[in-house]
Amino acid sequence: MKNIIFIAPPAAGKGTQSEILMKNHGYIHISTGDLLRKEVESKSELGLRLTEIMSSGELVSDEIVTELLRKRLIEKDTETGFILDGYPRNIAQAKILDDLLITLGKKIGAAIYLDMDVDTAMHRALGRLSCPECGRGYNKYEEATKPKNEGFCDDCNIALTSRSDDTEETFKIRFNAYIENTEPLLDYYKELGILNVIDNSGTPSETSALIESVIK
Ligand code: AMP
Repeated sequence: MKNIIFIAPPAAGKGTQSEILMKNHGYIHISTGDLLRKEVESKSELGLRLTEIMSSGELVSDEIVTELLRKRLIEKDTETGFILDGYPRNIAQAKILDDLLITLGKKIGAAIYLDMDVDTAMHRALGRLSCPECGRGYNKYEEATKPKNEGFCDDCNIALTSRSDDTEETFKIRFNAYIENTEPLLDYYKELGILNVIDNSGTPSETSALIESVIK
């Protein structure tokens, strides 16, 4: 199985596409945002420092994120195939990742860019909900992914929550950070010959079909 990197603006649906790949192929989903949120929830000293940075929409330092990622990548389950979601977020992290993967004897088979415009991404961010129990993602503005019973998880019947950084103001900061730091990665992976551009303006299943053709 090819190891994958997802590159996309915030709220493009990386989490949703990762869930589909996990279900269909047994991929392991590694989201640095999730690793950081877990640290915040643990209320560790590091977690308390992260809370402020993350709720402002700014990026956490390369050192902190990379260490959390390294610890996750050395776990045995990553041997079958993993998806990196949210890392690398800048060229420095891409280079750190190249070195880290060499030491771990792993490599990336495809960098998948989910291409979409800013207005659609913002609309998705503002409608995004998830189940605090099972983690399933929803979007209240999109027919294909809205909960059957408004505001409640289809599986757990628990009230859905939204992320504290999915506000219009924070979205703009996160989107600008993406343009400035993450977009240059497209040229980086193009030069390595592993960049795949996917039209992400359709439904999650249309995007998923395009991703399938890349990983085959
Ligand atoms: P995400 O869930 O990927 O949208 O990430 C949420 C927040 O976590 C971001 O706005 C950043 O503050 C932080 N974060 C996640 N991944 C990284 C990364 N690779 N480098 C720096 N900060 C990150």
